[in-house]
Amino acid sequence: MAKPKVATTSMCGCFGCHMSFLDIDERILELIELVDFDKSPIDDIKEFTGPVAVGLIEGSCCNEENVHVLQDFRKHCDVLVAVGGCAINGDIPALRNTVPLSECMDEAYRKSVTTYNPSGQIPNDPELPLILDRIYPCNEVVKIDYYLPGCPPSADTIWAALLALLNNKPLDLPYELIKYD
Ligand code: SF4
Repeated sequence: MAKPKVATTSMCGCFGCHMSFLDIDERILELIELVDFDKSPIDDIKEFTGPVAVGLIEGSCCNEENVHVLQDFRKHCDVLVAVGGCAINGDIPALRNTVPLSECMDEAYRKSVTTYNPSGQIPNDPELPLILDRIYPCNEVVKIDYYLPGCPPSADTIWAALLALLNNKPLDLPYELIKYD
C-alpha cells in the first residue's frame, strides 16, 4: 500500500522549525517507514508530485513567492499545519510590520553600517520576488487546519502532532508539549 505523503516548506522563518523537526533523531527511521516526503527542503524535491496528506509550513509570507508556495501547499495538501510562531502570527519577521517597507529597504540596502552601495540602487531585478508591504501570517493567506505554537515547537510536539494526523486521531496534545512557561 502506498504510504501517505508529507510535504514541508520554509518561507519567511529561520529554518529553526525544520531543525526542530529533525531533532526527532532516531525516530526519523520510523518516519520513513510511515511516510514518503514530497516537496520539501529535506529531500530537495522542488515541485509537488501529487496529493499530499500533511503539509507542514514554517514561516510567514514576506514576498510574493511565499504566497504562491503557500497557495500551492493548500491546493495539494489535505491537512495544512502552521508550524511555529512565524507561520502562526509572523513572530520575529513581523517586527518589520511597525516600519514602512521603504524604510526597511533603505536600512537594508543603503544605510546600514555594513552596507557598501555607492549607487544607492535597491535590488529590483524581475527575477527577485516582490517584497510584500508587510508580513502576512499563513492564515491571512490560506485556510490553516492546525497550529503548532512555539519558536520552535519541540521535536516531540511535531512528532506527536504528525503521528496523530497520519492516524486520523484528534490533535489533542498533552499540556507538557505545548506549555511555554
Ligand atoms: S518560529 Fe522560531 S524557530 Fe520557527 S522559523 Fe520562526 S523564528 Fe525560526
